[in-house]
Amino acid sequence: MNEHDIRYVLSLSLEEAAFGCEKITKIKTGEVCSSCEGSGRSSTLDSTICPKCHGIGQIYQSYPISVHIPAGVKDGYQLHVNTKDQAGLRGEVLEELDVIVSIRAHKVFQRSDDDVIYEMPLNFAQAALGAELMVPTLKGSVKLRIPPGTQTGRLFRLKGKGIPHLDRRGKGDQLVKIRVVTPTSLGEHQRWLLERLAKSLSQAELGERKSRR
Ligand SMILES: [Zn+2]
Repeated sequence: MNEHDIRYVLSLSLEEAAFGCEKITKIKTGEVCSSCEGSGRSSTLDSTICPKCHGIGQIYQSYPISVHIPAGVKDGYQLHVNTKDQAGLRGEVLEELDVIVSIRAHKVFQRSDDDVIYEMPLNFAQAALGAELMVPTLKGSVKLRIPPGTQTGRLFRLKGKGIPHLDRRGKGDQLVKIRVVTPTSLGEHQRWLLERLAKSLSQAELGERKSRR
């Protein structure tokens, strides 16, 4: 097998891919068994299996290698890693290898190029009255002011809160997508309040709001 055919897949979190990191990963490699010289047998006359490699003919070992990940890499990004200078490595097969980046799905953020999409749930009181909320980003939280009358699907753009561009200066943005959540269970008092609200909202008013967007 050609050494350059060997591909290692390196799994990264979205944060690691976004901001870059030094990643220590273990690669597994096979070397010809020194005891049986790859035959897998104890001797050429004997059919008993080699006790050192258990008949496989190769000894498998894993080595740690250090991989530098630049900020802003995308899923499928390929790195050529030269391991010559890395301590503890031996064997020609290991001197150079290709590493392919695989980015794990994030629990709350979705990536779109260098932008990050975050879906933020709002209760309908917050959506109707407006609110000031803390929004999580890839690095800490930022304050976002939601204006009164905010509808589901509305997008707010947090400039420069996305992923750094790999090949040029600057960063993507974070897009905050609003989702207004209808309550599924109401307390007695909440129900009473909503019923009062329902009486005060005329059908015409609802229609007017609808046509405005
Ligand atoms: Zn052997």
